[in-house]
Amino acid sequence: MNKEIKSIRGMHDYLPEELKIWNYVETILKEVLASYCYLEIRLPLLEKTEIFKRAIGYITDVVEKEMYSFNDRKGNSLTLRPEGTVGCVRAIIQNHLLHKKNNKFWYLGPMFRYERPQKGRYRQFYQLGAEAFGLDTEDIDFEMILLTNRLWKKIGIDLHINLEINSIGSQKDRLKYKKELVSFLKKNEHLLDLDSKRRLYTNPLRILDSKNETMQKILQEAPLLSEYIDIHSTNHFKNLCSMITDHEIKYIYNKNLVRGLDYYNSTVFEWKSDYLGAQNTICAGGRYDSLIEEMGGKKTSAIGFAIGIERLVLLIKSLNIFSKKIEDINIYIIFIGKENKYHAINLSEEIRNLYPKLKIFINFLNQNLQKKIKNAICSSAKIAIIINRYHIKEKYFVIKDLKNKKEFYLLKHELMIKIQEFFK
Ligand code: ATP
Ligand code: MG
Repeated sequence: MNKEIKSIRGMHDYLPEELKIWNYVETILKEVLASYCYLEIRLPLLEKTEIFKRAIGYITDVVEKEMYSFNDRKGNSLTLRPEGTVGCVRAIIQNHLLHKKNNKFWYLGPMFRYERPQKGRYRQFYQLGAEAFGLDTEDIDFEMILLTNRLWKKIGIDLHINLEINSIGSQKDRLKYKKELVSFLKKNEHLLDLDSKRRLYTNPLRILDSKNETMQKILQEAPLLSEYIDIHSTNHFKNLCSMITDHEIKYIYNKNLVRGLDYYNSTVFEWKSDYLGAQNTICAGGRYDSLIEEMGGKKTSAIGFAIGIERLVLLIKSLNIFSKKIEDINIYIIFIGKENKYHAINLSEEIRNLYPKLKIFINFLNQNLQKKIKNAICSSAKIAIIINRYHIKEKYFVIKDLKNKKEFYLLKHELMIKIQEFFK
């Protein structure tokens, strides 16, 4: 194929076979979110660049290296959203949705990050995000853990995904901690890998979740974030952990769990799977109690999470748990002779009126009867209906039971009853 007309690196086409799994997943996600009273919100793909810089943090991987930003015709800098929380917060402030207490929203759509494409990491990827506003107690953190836990159970991956939680305290706590961490790491600077050396001067907290084993060894001696966290965050976290334990949900307290975006505080959590290789986080979330005020709204507590749908689908595929056979075609209509095309179309419309859920395919190709029947057999259709001149004259239709190789000659009203029998 001509090289010019390939998709952009890291951006994929989502093809019908794969989308069967996506639809299965999305239906469950929507059902579960509704059962916790989350409401859907749809947001623009583009926002002003400045709001991402301010909210996510000027010195973060996302803002420094990963954003797709460009100037519009008037010279305004716009950015394809790298995540959904910032746009969601902008929208709820702009649309005055904060007056109600306990607001909960969800959204699903593509996000864009200029990253190095690899398995589970793309430049356009889908996130399902959920955000809850107005509750500062750990109850809502716990409800989010329950919600996500229920999702995995319903999807059938709960045995292959683990919860990790941590508390990262307030921004003030982290600033204090950051100083201590940096001075510790500077003493070991000659041992740091290239990535960590760079991060030491930009985003040192991210060194904590480095995947490099040498880094993790060095970090064993490092000061602990938990010792710098204020009493409020500590109690919040203790209460959350005991609620999770009481509910018998397994979790790992990961003292090095941090988030890549600046706006988080207090509770952070991730659901990870060992089946995905390096890109093992499927769902990541946390509190961001000061973001709304920072973006010009009134002080409101908030917590959210985002699920990477591609990674979720990869896990489902690697576990081979999606076995639901979805038929693309239920009834295959064959007509012989151009003049019978309209009978075929009319019949298909009548069947759709009576049975709106059935998938009816008309073969419009210029093929002979044998070829058309062969195609019907190769499709997922259960029955084929054949319309030719003789049958129209006599008002009979030929119905072929494609699986059991039986044939029926039926009048139209009999045909409609037979269809019901076939697809009950
Ligand atoms: P990572 O450490 O894997 O880069 P992150 O901390 O940047 O993740 P978040 O911003 O928390 O990720 O996004 C939430 C979720 O969205 C991730 O846990 C992951 O499932 C998914 N995700 C993030 N970036 C990508 C990407 N480039 N491609 C596919 N999925 C992604
Ligand atoms: Mg990232």
